[in-house]
Amino acid sequence: MVVVVKKDASEEQIRDILKHLEDYGFKTHVSVGEMRTIIGAIGVQPDFDIRKVKILEGVADVYRITDPFKLASRNFKKEDTVVNIKDCKIGGDNIVLIAGPCSIESEEQIFRLAEIVHSSGAKILRGGAFKPRSSPYSFQGLGEEGLKMIRKAADEFGLLVITEVLQIGQIDLISKYADILQVGARNMQNFSLLKELGQSDIPVMLKRGLSATIEEWLMSAEYLLSSNNKNVFLCERGIRTFETYTRNTFDLSAIPVVHEKSHLPVIADPSHATGLRNQVPPMARAAIAAGADGLMIEIHDDPEKALSDGPQALLPNQYLDLIKELKLIAKAIGRNL
Ligand code: PEP
Ligand code: MN
Repeated sequence: MVVVVKKDASEEQIRDILKHLEDYGFKTHVSVGEMRTIIGAIGVQPDFDIRKVKILEGVADVYRITDPFKLASRNFKKEDTVVNIKDCKIGGDNIVLIAGPCSIESEEQIFRLAEIVHSSGAKILRGGAFKPRSSPYSFQGLGEEGLKMIRKAADEFGLLVITEVLQIGQIDLISKYADILQVGARNMQNFSLLKELGQSDIPVMLKRGLSATIEEWLMSAEYLLSSNNKNVFLCERGIRTFETYTRNTFDLSAIPVVHEKSHLPVIADPSHATGLRNQVPPMARAAIAAGADGLMIEIHDDPEKALSDGPQALLPNQYLDLIKELKLIAKAIGRNL
């Protein structure tokens, strides 16, 4: 931690700052410059609340120089994490494709879409059975009936299933049907849910919160890892900004940042990030070029009648054309898709 002392701070204030830092367990090193005095505070305390120093008299600013996450950090583990689920690898050189409808709507619908997902070479079928909707009057998902349908469709086509878990009470039920549990944007900081998911080794995909910083997102991953689930990967799905022409702002720069800061795989979701079908292919291409370890894409064969997120769903032919382009981009950057 670096503490910048105010220009007009008194000797006594500086002594007081040093005393506080030492009491908090830091070793200190003072550097008196012409313009500013700076105190280096050394000591590994990832959970130290720097505001305790910010409020001291004579302090101008405080900067952290180490990250507050440990198990999720690249310093802790140099090699990329690869999450293995049956014959599917998430992370490393591979690029994983997850596709399917926003919601499971009927057995026929999920079977038709599973066939398309399979024909594209994707390994994972998505579909929500418990939906986190902004309005309580919107379609909330088919619940366990939907889980049965997606499992059956996935088994028919040799696919894995990912679906969202909204609350602790659903974990056991969903784990019976799904291979990967999705923690959605709205639940990224549901710490009780994360701790509970950390108790098992079921793979978890942690989406970035609507207004979460990358650090907060990695701290949420830290909850899963520190409760002992190492099968964790991340999903960038756009963040809320002042922009209104897109549903969210797709933070593609989060991908190289996560790769630098963390060993966890990070995939991208251009569907929720943009919210409109015509914006999905360009951003999917960009995400692969930016180094994403995979994509999650929503598709539908009758999007006008979709029970959720129809406007962002790619039609089957659009999706299949996109995959062909993505293969070329992946090859150009030396990766497999
Ligand atoms: C979803 O993937 O179905 C979903 C609801 O996404 P998010 O949590 O990113 O909004
Ligand atoms: Mn959706």
